[in-house]
Amino acid sequence: MMGESPRKVQLTTHFNLSEFLHGDDPLPPPWILDNLYRLANRLQVIRDLLNKPIIINSGYRTKAHNLAVGGQPNSFHLSGMAADIVVSGMPAPQVQRFLANWSGGLGSYTHFTHVDIRPNRARWSG
Ligand SMILES: [Zn+2]
Repeated sequence: MMGESPRKVQLTTHFNLSEFLHGDDPLPPPWILDNLYRLANRLQVIRDLLNKPIIINSGYRTKAHNLAVGGQPNSFHLSGMAADIVVSGMPAPQVQRFLANWSGGLGSYTHFTHVDIRPNRARWSG
């Protein structure tokens, strides 16, 4: 986590820290950065399998941001363990079928997919 702009640090081959942050939010504390690093590595595996860009619609959320977007108060986005993703050129239901065996949380929505790295398996539709 060195360099001029810590927000621009490359977490994996295809994921930059800034993709998991919202514009003006402060840099998250180290334990959240650790979670984002683990999350990015899980997403990188999917990115490599699909060979298509994954767009992070929402990654880490501060409490204020989570409140503003109507997120669950216990959302995994608050700990940097969740991302709402869209895969370039792939409808969300197809992404969700592809991720059927994702270990952790998988939320299926019409236009995006929520993935998180909670230790247990969870499935829901929004
Ligand atoms: Zn989400």
